[in-house]
Amino acid sequence: MKLLKFIPFLLLVLAGCTQDPQPSPNIVFIFTDDHTARALSAYGSVVNKTPNLDRIADEGMRFTQCLVTNSICAPSRAVILTGKHSHLNGQLTNGNRFDGAQQTFPKLLQAAGYQTSMIGKWHLQSEPTGFDYWQVLIGQGPYYNPRFLVPGDTVQIEGYTTNIITDLALNWLETQRDPEKPFMLMYQHKAPHREWHPGPDHFELYADENIPEPANLFDDYSNRASPAAEQGMTIARHLNVEDLKLAPPRSMNEEQAAEWEKVYGPRNDEFHEANLEGDDLTRWKYQRYVKEYLRTVAGVDDNVGRMLDYLEEKNLDENTVVIYSSDQGWYIGEHGWYDKRWMYEESLVAPLLVRWPGNVQPGSVNHAMVSNLDFAATFLDLAGVSIPGDMQGKSLKPLFLGETPEDWRTSHYYQYYEYPGYHCVERHYGVRTDRYKLIHFYNREEWELFDLEADPMEMNSVYDDPAYSETQTKLKEELRRLREFYAVPDDERPTGPCIPNERGAPTPRQ
Ligand code: CA
Repeated sequence: MKLLKFIPFLLLVLAGCTQDPQPSPNIVFIFTDDHTARALSAYGSVVNKTPNLDRIADEGMRFTQCLVTNSICAPSRAVILTGKHSHLNGQLTNGNRFDGAQQTFPKLLQAAGYQTSMIGKWHLQSEPTGFDYWQVLIGQGPYYNPRFLVPGDTVQIEGYTTNIITDLALNWLETQRDPEKPFMLMYQHKAPHREWHPGPDHFELYADENIPEPANLFDDYSNRASPAAEQGMTIARHLNVEDLKLAPPRSMNEEQAAEWEKVYGPRNDEFHEANLEGDDLTRWKYQRYVKEYLRTVAGVDDNVGRMLDYLEEKNLDENTVVIYSSDQGWYIGEHGWYDKRWMYEESLVAPLLVRWPGNVQPGSVNHAMVSNLDFAATFLDLAGVSIPGDMQGKSLKPLFLGETPEDWRTSHYYQYYEYPGYHCVERHYGVRTDRYKLIHFYNREEWELFDLEADPMEMNSVYDDPAYSETQTKLKEELRRLREFYAVPDDERPTGPCIPNERGAPTPRQ
């Protein structure tokens, strides 16, 4: 009799043992090139709306401090693939060729039984490794009629690149996905990279609007070390005609102005529009530039909506981790700039959004200091694959689940190497904590120290301020510790002419 009483319990235990374990989640990594969080409405953008990207944040988690280790395109991609800083993965600058023979997270996922796919912008010179399927833009790729590299061949497709990359990704999911395996799809856009060609749906977007200017559009770079004033990435002086798609109105001398009056009559508003100079001309360029940039972002947003809709239609959304990020931040006029490279906040911080139904709390915000260095370890952890000891990042899976470890990092190491190079940004390394940032321009032996609480826009270095001497000492010690922890070698200190990207110079291809 006693045994009979036990039978229902035994059956329950057996049922529990034979139940399928939680299936490994699929991973869709949505990645863009040069998308600043300041042009994402989930981050409170004042210049645009991104309703589809916001869906990921609304249904998932938004990270406010995803800090890159080296704010430039190919190096960021290499950090993501390897989980190692640039000095260990070999991709110090865009000029290096990625060593695809080294350990990467796609290879490890593939070995663990994941179906892996890479579609869109790759930008690492060598061919992708670790993927069951890949179709990638050649180099930077154009905005229209792109040619793709596929194993052993190239194919050209007519149309707008952002739409086409989505078509290819959806087609792969529809026709090539193996339903017996979990998948990891890297769905990577060229947009909103320079030279910002919008798609046909967005030519007129913002046509009748004035986009707000950042408060430091006319930064004079005083109260800082010398490099910020000596770069080649200002909206005022360094955007070229190809960027602006229109020759800027030229300021007229008195003789030209008199000629204008002979033809058009007395000087009026039209005269002033045709005769822009100084700050007015910079404002004109800012509007031209930022509208084109935001139009390409709108193309990304629409297409991310297509991807999310597809996952829902196919009931793939429930067991798929959708992650959105970009290879670095970007300047939309802050400090008077476009481009990236600096350790200053706008280019240091990348957007990071994560949706994982049933696991990530919808609408949550995470302020922990995370990094693109962590992505590889995170993907492996999500898949239940052990994280190799030589990866330098940490898994974000506990953070996704709302459990930030108590010993989570409180400082971040950064280093930028591409000098001499486009835009003349000096090599620098530094440490960022929650409140402070110490930067060493080691080629010039110059330093900057910012108190981000008192000076969030980083307009005033307090490196020489005696009130911060103790802070400076502590940060230098932390910087030394991080360099040792990450095994950073002393860098060379190259000199030579940089490429300022003046009008008429070759168009940069970063
Ligand atoms: Ca980039």
